[in-house]
Amino acid sequence: MKSRRTRSQERLLQLLKQLNGEMSAQDLYVRLRELGQGMGLATVYRALEALRLEGVIQARTLGTGESLYSSTQKDRHHLNCIQCGRSLAIDDCPVHALEAQLSRSEGFQIFYHTLEFYGLCDRCQDGSPAPPQNHVHD
Ligand SMILES: [Zn+2]
Ligand SMILES: [Zn+2]
Repeated sequence: MKSRRTRSQERLLQLLKQLNGEMSAQDLYVRLRELGQGMGLATVYRALEALRLEGVIQARTLGTGESLYSSTQKDRHHLNCIQCGRSLAIDDCPVHALEAQLSRSEGFQIFYHTLEFYGLCDRCQDGSPAPPQNHVHD
């Protein structure tokens, strides 16, 4: 069953696919305006939520509580510092094999999974917190 997407949803989905990275709703809102495809921030949030429920984009939460969105084609996991907000990508997906196995054994069609680690980065453990960072787009 394919649901019909609104134009806002299509624009956001295309943008996230082109980015091949991740962005917060606020940044997506700004980027769309720069592209001359501006829409209200509330519309951006609604469209992102609809796309997420459809399984074509995913959201992950930084240590600072901010959500970043990306296309579900991306299988990436991160270590998130709850103090400075740094987000370090880990190279391998440790649950890739598990996903395939669950998909087989449970007969479940899995769109994506999330796995995030939260704590203090090396700099913040030293007691001299790193300056707060803006979102890392990789
Ligand atoms: Zn830190
Ligand atoms: Zn993974």
